[in-house]
Amino acid sequence: MCGIVGYVGEQHPKECLIDGLKKLEYRGYDSSGIAIKNKDTIQIIKSTGKISDLEEKIANEKLIKSNLGIAHTRWATHGEANETNAHPHKVNRVTIVHNGIIENATELKNKLVNEGIVFRSETDTEVACAVIDNYYNGNPIETITKAIKELKGSYAFGILFEDQDKLYAVRKDSPLIIGIGEKENYIASDIAAIIKYTDKYILLEDDEVVELSKDEVKVFKDGQPIEKEVKTSTMTIEDANKGNYKHFMLKEIMEEPIVLQRTLNKYIHDMDQMADISDYEEIHIVACGSALYAGMIGKCLLEDKANIKCMTECASEYRYKKIIYDRKTLVILISQSGETADTIAAMRKAHEEGMDTLAIVNVKTSTIAREAKKTLFIEAGPEIAVATTKAYLLQVAMFSLIALKAAVSKGLEKNEKEILEEAKHLPEYLRKVLNDKEIFENVGKEIHEEHSAFFIGRGIDYAMCEEGSLKLKEVSYIHCDAYQAGELKHGTISLIEDGVPVFAIITDDRIKDKTESNVIEVESRQARIFIITNDPSIMNHHFKYVVEKLSDYFQPILIVPPLQLIGYYTALTRGLDIDKPRNLAKSVTVE
Ligand code: GLU
Repeated sequence: MCGIVGYVGEQHPKECLIDGLKKLEYRGYDSSGIAIKNKDTIQIIKSTGKISDLEEKIANEKLIKSNLGIAHTRWATHGEANETNAHPHKVNRVTIVHNGIIENATELKNKLVNEGIVFRSETDTEVACAVIDNYYNGNPIETITKAIKELKGSYAFGILFEDQDKLYAVRKDSPLIIGIGEKENYIASDIAAIIKYTDKYILLEDDEVVELSKDEVKVFKDGQPIEKEVKTSTMTIEDANKGNYKHFMLKEIMEEPIVLQRTLNKYIHDMDQMADISDYEEIHIVACGSALYAGMIGKCLLEDKANIKCMTECASEYRYKKIIYDRKTLVILISQSGETADTIAAMRKAHEEGMDTLAIVNVKTSTIAREAKKTLFIEAGPEIAVATTKAYLLQVAMFSLIALKAAVSKGLEKNEKEILEEAKHLPEYLRKVLNDKEIFENVGKEIHEEHSAFFIGRGIDYAMCEEGSLKLKEVSYIHCDAYQAGELKHGTISLIEDGVPVFAIITDDRIKDKTESNVIEVESRQARIFIITNDPSIMNHHFKYVVEKLSDYFQPILIVPPLQLIGYYTALTRGLDIDKPRNLAKSVTVE
């Protein structure tokens, strides 16, 4: 789920491996390690905590001569985050790093223990390593091809064999690419790890096994050599760096106007490019986390504007529940990385049921992008901060356009031209909001010592509240909850006490009076009210920020960025690790 880097070439691998791990830090991790190899000697160094701790440990050791190595950042699924459980793991002749989760590890482990294998760690990875070693017959390709048949779950493995001077890798449902360099080659779970060295890469598909030497990359499927296309990445070194910003999260929020323009441009001049879903009678919107909240905005717009019945469901539920649908149902899947394990499983379930799927993803080479029946790409560029900002905003923008297209197709929207004209000015309106960042910085400073905060709104405003609440809690660790404004008095209002911050989103004219009444209810109980609205006539309370009034389709695009900035500045004032909040990983490739 976290990071893998591997190197084979003419240099000592240390620099490339550490550098790569640093570029993958953003994905969140709890420990790390490297293995380097020279002839039949393998040296393994591991550490808990930051990559800088690993780097220090490496600096204090005498390293063997080497030109081949693998490295890993771990996000624990089996066993706590300690040095023994950190990767690489070595069992007899085989050393591996692993991203993902081996679901039948317990069963396999019992079998291997009975055969006399002694395990040192609690990880599923060591079990996989023992399975590979058990099969090892001197032919790595044959061995890996057989061993993976025993493994259930997801994996990207970097593998070293004691008697081979080459690097091996294989993956299933966990990303892994092969980097092609000059007299050196690489493996990485993300191109960001190696973009400093090369922009040429090969995308590895499920269960393809690769053998890398400094001069050659050979890919095999079921033991047979296959041809693979070498692609060129558009990522730049700057994309993988913070530039003048203190954190990726702020950099990515500030990039929102540009990426919004890039994404909208493709469609606002030619709406024929946009998917037309007006023929469907029902839509299931399935995603996880912020993507699910973007989907909730989509649901409000599709129901309201295009009269299509919608439901939203988190992917981890959808994949296991009984799906009731008729022939005209479309499943819309949303995932920034396109590798979210639960969303992939939900997509595959929809396909098994014979349903149509439409994916909204950022990473073009991802599993969801490749498998969904139709895909719309947001053009966010790499998103490094764990807490999504720009990608979320573009997912929302995509729903604005999907809803507009469907409403126009059904003859329910007569103002397409005006709305598209408005879309052209969106980046400029958004820039104005972001220029007010000091206002939100002050809010962050004001609330940074609070223990809890609430977000209230109705309808589409409630969907935005969910994202505002998630953003604040995930980076600042302040307990936050979002409520449909009318629901508060059915229990939660008992938590409102003197000074507790309540953020109210009020943009929908039809229900603004109702939300305002709810605001007054909590204010009467001494809550501190922060309002974000598009309506200057809303009564002044403790704090009010008014954005440009837009059509319903695009209004959320101006409301959520202030909430993202409040989350960011609150965490900043608290002195937290904003880009890598505790316990979180960027792309959740395990269940
Ligand atoms: N499941 C493995 C472990 O717990 C790998 C986790 C990862 O993807 O980092 O060690």
